[in-house]
Amino acid sequence: MSELTRRERMRRDPVPMPERAPEQRRVDFDEVNLGYTPQMAVAEAERCLFCSHPTCVEGCPVLVDIVGFLEAIVADDFAAAADIISRDNSLPAICGRVCPQEEQCEGACVLAKKGKAIHIGHLERFVADHARAHGGAVARPKRTSGHRVAVVGSGPAGLACAADLAKAGHHVTVFEALHQLGGVLAYGIPRFRLPREVITAETERLGALGVEFRTNSVIGMSDTIEDLLTTEGFDAVFVGVGAGLPRFLDVPGEDLVGVYSANEFLTRVNLMEAYTEEADTPVLDLIGKRVAVFGGGNTAMDAIRTAIRLGAAQALVLYRRTEEEMPARLEEVAHAKAEGVEIVPLVTPVELLAADESGHLGGVRLQRMRLGEPDAGGRRRPVPIAGETFDLQIDVAIVAIGNSPNPLLAKTTPALAHTDRGTLVIDQESGMTSIPGVFAGGDIVTGGATVILAMAQGRRAAAAIDRWLHELDAEPAAPTTPPAAPEGSPV
Ligand code: FAD
Ligand code: SF4
Repeated sequence: MSELTRRERMRRDPVPMPERAPEQRRVDFDEVNLGYTPQMAVAEAERCLFCSHPTCVEGCPVLVDIVGFLEAIVADDFAAAADIISRDNSLPAICGRVCPQEEQCEGACVLAKKGKAIHIGHLERFVADHARAHGGAVARPKRTSGHRVAVVGSGPAGLACAADLAKAGHHVTVFEALHQLGGVLAYGIPRFRLPREVITAETERLGALGVEFRTNSVIGMSDTIEDLLTTEGFDAVFVGVGAGLPRFLDVPGEDLVGVYSANEFLTRVNLMEAYTEEADTPVLDLIGKRVAVFGGGNTAMDAIRTAIRLGAAQALVLYRRTEEEMPARLEEVAHAKAEGVEIVPLVTPVELLAADESGHLGGVRLQRMRLGEPDAGGRRRPVPIAGETFDLQIDVAIVAIGNSPNPLLAKTTPALAHTDRGTLVIDQESGMTSIPGVFAGGDIVTGGATVILAMAQGRRAAAAIDRWLHELDAEPAAPTTPPAAPEGSPV
């Protein structure tokens, strides 16, 4: 452990994450954060008080042994630190970059009260990147179970589930609707936050464990869930199809040219590489344009920061509450502002306005809001101020107000119980759906949430699937009772 006294550790300031200058990074898609050097990582880990009751761990959704991995960093044993993290987190290079740590481990750190929380996320990223650069070959499990499991969707839920099942010796096939693996990590989160080589390294690691990937395979169109269990001969299925159906504003003018959903905009840029010179133009030319995004979450920040990189002259975030209530990660908001994004609080669009007869967007009519009483989630509700509207000229609008589950699977597999919001109903212990042998997790169960929660559900389901397969070996009849559909479920 560190030689520093407790007082010395408390006096030290956090080691900042080195990042590229705003004027440099706003013109390309290279990663903004540069990562700690080994010296920086040790210096930051040395600030830890190594509490006997580490509240940081309680704040971590997957209970990573934070004290253990920080001790290993202080001892300069980065490989041991990586082993400790990987016991509980199978995607640390990703989580170290995108988890909202200020609401999780870092928010729960005893030093947070003094504004000096240990930068656990930056350290997790350092350890994972170091392991990727220096890691050895992945060992395939020695014994195979003979069981085959289908994983539908290659987002964090599906990847985490596939990793644990493959390590347990089961043969896993991942079916992915898109041509690229990673779910939102690939099509939603831009590479300036999460470089693609980080995702590729994770999927290659799974490939080395024996996981088979089938891209361009939309389950529900090619095969149904039932087909996977019957004609395709899988013994169990994990459904991790996310919540990729964008919600719209439902105001006049939403069909004008120049209005995008954030999902469409980000997917076009991320998967069709609109940022390269060779690419066909998969989004409107944004050079010199006034771009506005509606919403205040990570998706809104990703979309507007992408628009800046594509040449937008003005980049506005129009949000119906105040900046304080914005659900985006603090780091994203700070980075966005440094890059020139302007946040316009307490407004909501009531109409999108045409520029002329051509059907192109030219502006937006905004309703001024004020904050009212807190809603069920504790955030103060936005309330319209009667008679206070104004118009703003914009050329492009991006709607980032949330996503819903895609109804395809529920439609093609009627036996799959779902709520009226379209999320799948599962047994909370095992993750099993209403169909025996079919498990689910991630955004398709929770609605839009976070990478770490999706991953945690994928891992929990993997453990339950492993038990289910062992029970199948012992007793061929259906071993576990699936959950009953809740009252009011459409199934
Ligand atoms: P997804 O990541 O949505 O993956 C589901 C996959 O299933 C997709 O690849 C999809 O193509 C595939 N699929 C869908 N239907 C089918 C089908 N029928 N057959 C086969 N495949 C199918 N969370 C954070 O923690 N931090 C962040 O910074 C953050 N930023 C975000 C930014 C954006 C733009 C968005 C949209 C979300 C962000 N989130 C963030 C949320 C986080 O990404 C999601 O909660 C998480 O990815 C959910 O994981 P998942 O595996 O459940 O689903
Ligand atoms: Fe270290 Fe903070 Fe965790 Fe205490 S709560 S062990 S100081 S990271």
